[in-house]
Amino acid sequence: MTPTSLPVAVIGGGPVGLAAAAHLLERGLEPVVLEAGDAPAAAVRAWGHVRMFSPWRFNTDAAAVRLLHSAGWSAPDPGHHPTGDELVRDYLAPLAAHPTVAPRLRLGARVVGVSRRHHDLQRDGTREDAPFVLQVAASAGGVEEVEARAVLDCSGTWGTPNPVGAHGLPAPGERGGRVAYRIPDPLGRDRADYAGRRVLVIGAGHSAMNVVEALAALAEEAPGTAVAWAFRRPLAAANFGGGRDDGLAARGALGARARALVEEGRVRAFAPFLVRRLSDAPDGAVRVEGLLDGRPHAAEVDRVVGATGFRPDLAPLAELRLSLDPAVQATPALAPLIDPNLHSCGTVRPHGEAELRHPAEPGFYIAGMKAYGRAPTFLMATGHEQVRSIAAHLAGDADAARRVELVLPETGVCSGSKPKAAVEAAAGGACRGPAVEPAAVAAVVAGSSCCTPASAATAAVPATPQGTCCAPKVELPADADAPCCA
Ligand SMILES: Cc1cc2nc3c(=O)[nH]c(=O)nc-3n(C[C@H](O)[C@H](O)[C@H](O)COP(=O)(O)OP(=O)(O)OC[C@H]3O[C@@H](n4cnc5c(N)ncnc54)[C@H](O)[C@@H]3O)c2cc1C
Repeated sequence: MTPTSLPVAVIGGGPVGLAAAAHLLERGLEPVVLEAGDAPAAAVRAWGHVRMFSPWRFNTDAAAVRLLHSAGWSAPDPGHHPTGDELVRDYLAPLAAHPTVAPRLRLGARVVGVSRRHHDLQRDGTREDAPFVLQVAASAGGVEEVEARAVLDCSGTWGTPNPVGAHGLPAPGERGGRVAYRIPDPLGRDRADYAGRRVLVIGAGHSAMNVVEALAALAEEAPGTAVAWAFRRPLAAANFGGGRDDGLAARGALGARARALVEEGRVRAFAPFLVRRLSDAPDGAVRVEGLLDGRPHAAEVDRVVGATGFRPDLAPLAELRLSLDPAVQATPALAPLIDPNLHSCGTVRPHGEAELRHPAEPGFYIAGMKAYGRAPTFLMATGHEQVRSIAAHLAGDADAARRVELVLPETGVCSGSKPKAAVEAAAGGACRGPAVEPAAVAAVVAGSSCCTPASAATAAVPATPQGTCCAPKVELPADADAPCCA
């Protein structure tokens, strides 16, 4: 066992890292939160202009709320959907400033490496007794080492967007400033950069929908603005989420609005489109070459927005003995539940320490958005449950660590690229994938497929909140009592 006199290091002062600090403090454990940004929740601030699809009641952590109430905080309207900026202003900033959290939060502190004292990856020695060592690069310059008894990596994935290239690698010419990643703000701070331009948005998912919707609104106001949207998959209802079947109404409505923009011709869709090369075109434009429905196709646009999701940065963890699924890059116990190849129900049974542990590196956890690896369906509420369970385990409360304390809303859509038989087998025959129709926009109107009735989606079903749609229960350690719909 590592010395208990050392703090528990939390990498990242975002929503989940700050919630981890609250749970650790509540358990009498000493956290040190290392945040790369010069202000807490730097990643959320970067998409602060985006309105969240989950309302306040899903966005706050129970221990954090208890802490905040002790300082006289008033909870926001639970039904309101905050923007990222409001999430910071009304919840995360007060939490970071709380007198018990602030002294334990180090800003401008980027963790660049994690290992065990005097043990590289290969060395057994007394590995499990050795404290963790975190190398921390200060924004002011210099690197120092921090020792910890346990580590929760809550650093998210915002810093490592996926490339737009077809093979998971940057397409030739992709680097060099031709693609804007993350979520630009065409109606606000980035307006001058997008008004009157031809813009190609690449990627599916809610981030892409947000950008496309904002660009379409800009096109109403700024003549010459034209919006195209490239999807890797054939166009079908599933590209636009679960609509009315989504347990989060705002998320379903976003998809429905995005779908309407395509159907009404206000946004031109390219699908299935695989990006092969980017290069400069005359007048500062970008030439995007690829395969459209298997045939070579090229387009010249003024701006390219990459909204193809995010992946975890595992480089700082190279000296740790991680157990990660090779495809999803989540722990093997969690991966089958969130693997978009099997399904994208978006709802995973609540899980915690047992599913997130790395057996060969006890005391180290990846939690929050990064815990999902490359899977796209993370919800903040999931992260809150993860760190509640991990803090309970570190405090020696095995019962609380095992307990499920979360009910998640359904996405209302269940899709995957595996053959239907494989999907159904994985889901115990209960999860129906959608009929993914070929390219024509008209096919969008083909009914979407929902694995769980909308009524079940919002019902309180603590044991199996995902209803009938989930992968089979994975093998868990004998002491891990985690119910699922196996
Ligand atoms: C546009 C958008 C909208 C979203 N809307 C919703 C929504 O409505 N509901 C919902 O539940 N989820 C939503 N999400 C998902 C959301 O990002 C997460 O739920 C939440 O932000 C995850 O919190 P986190 O703490 O795990 O990661 P993050 O919010 O990414 O926080 C990670 C923190 O770690 C810091 N960091 C990164 N690397 C290091 C390092 N090496 N060392 C130190 N610090 C580091 C970052 O600066 C950041 O502050 C949305 C995401 C996006 C992009």
